[in-house]
Amino acid sequence: MVSILWSSTLDVDPTIAPIGARSDASRDHFDVLVIGGGNAGISLASRLKRYGFHNLAIVEPNNKHLYQPLFSHIGGGTAQPAEAMKPQAEVMPTGVRWIHDAAVTINPDNQTVQLVTGTVVTYRHLVICPGMRLNWDAVPGLKDAMNTPSVSSNYVYKLASKTWELIRELRSGTAVFTMPSGAVKCDGASQKIMYLACDYWREQGVLDDIRVVMVVHSPTVYGVDVVDQELNRKINEYGVQLYCNSEVTSVEGDAQTVTISPVKNPSDPAEAGTTQDQVLHYDLLHAVPPQVAPDWLLSSGLTRLGDPGGFIDVNPETLQHSRYTNVWSLGDVAGTKNYKSGASLRKQCLVLAKNLKAVKKGKEPQQKYDHYSATPFTVSRSTVVFAEFDDQRVPQPTLPWRGSMKEHRATWILERYILPWVYWHLILKGRA
Ligand SMILES: Cc1cc2nc3c(=O)[nH]c(=O)nc-3n(C[C@H](O)[C@H](O)[C@H](O)COP(=O)(O)OP(=O)(O)OC[C@H]3O[C@@H](n4cnc5c(N)ncnc54)[C@H](O)[C@@H]3O)c2cc1C
Repeated sequence: MVSILWSSTLDVDPTIAPIGARSDASRDHFDVLVIGGGNAGISLASRLKRYGFHNLAIVEPNNKHLYQPLFSHIGGGTAQPAEAMKPQAEVMPTGVRWIHDAAVTINPDNQTVQLVTGTVVTYRHLVICPGMRLNWDAVPGLKDAMNTPSVSSNYVYKLASKTWELIRELRSGTAVFTMPSGAVKCDGASQKIMYLACDYWREQGVLDDIRVVMVVHSPTVYGVDVVDQELNRKINEYGVQLYCNSEVTSVEGDAQTVTISPVKNPSDPAEAGTTQDQVLHYDLLHAVPPQVAPDWLLSSGLTRLGDPGGFIDVNPETLQHSRYTNVWSLGDVAGTKNYKSGASLRKQCLVLAKNLKAVKKGKEPQQKYDHYSATPFTVSRSTVVFAEFDDQRVPQPTLPWRGSMKEHRATWILERYILPWVYWHLILKGRA
């Protein structure tokens, strides 16, 4: 059972029922039970407390809480691992019960959740936000290759430091960076590390000796016009070889090769790419695995039928389940239309909390989430292109200065220093 936890990004310390945790969860009933104490779960529970909700609990197995946007900086050598982590106990909102356990089964008809330890908890309202599962098995050879010396992924906290070691050590050869198709949390993070690495290699005077390859599944570098212009400018500046409408379909860790294939049924012709399978030797591979909802949710009957990602079947605007009005979801696991990110769930959190408050008072959920998302592209070690857009990749800038989607020093300061502070002190407290 516990192995499900190790397939998550947050596989830091999933000890169940430590000293201090109560073991009598089976006797408990909660007005609001939240599954997952990550970005979404903690922010929402804090906000609900502020809205006057009582009798709340969060099921969360990990002892550590992670701020994932900093993983890119750890991998790029512009942040230390400790900056992205706090003890989970420190971020648990006061007055919210922490059930230090993991959910394994939901029965929405009986309003019960079964936990890894075998206990069963009941609820009046359920909020599901256990994040994404990294699907290493979806690319043949990738899982084994992750244990070889030249491969890393910032999508796993413990590996982000390995990424930085590999970048620091590389002086020549081929570096391959991948962005998979399907729903991916902060898909731009596949590219952020590539720009950080290129700028470092340029500083070190070795960039000309390194062939840098970026493989993206989309027809253009990202898909938001104004952002593409900036990213293409940087890609040309660094001399990156871009493969659009392409993806890595297998990895040979021992031979240090990847197979790059054209995507099936591309939506548009590629700006640049491959028309047939190519096998490429690498000296450094930064791989981002395909991502899906956790497997155990499938048996709950709460996931959207026919959705290959297995995401929770909510109304993408109100975030209420399409069949069970007392079930809600937000964050990476919600079957919403937006590109998945912390920025999108910040807006979802406000909508869900207000809707839950309305429903508790016997009213209809009126608040609607607008499908907003954002990705700050670290295009150098001191500048960011702050991409903000909706589900159609139409720009939706919210920053209060002109040209925020252009390369800027100010957005680096915002993303590297201000947003982490905002996360720990305002977002997790339900105040932003
Ligand atoms: C490398 C990287 C860079 C990123 N950069 C950015 C960025 O710059 N900007 C941005 O907005 N977003 C970024 N993101 C995305 C952002 O971190 C996620 O979208 C966000 O954390 C999603 O929040 P969540 O609560 O849905 O999931 P998570 O934060 O992943 O939390 C899920 C929680 O559920 C818990 N859990 C798992 N299984 C169970 C279970 N069975 N029972 C109970 N609990 C369970 C986990 O332990 C975890 O604490 C980045 C992500 C990565 C990996």
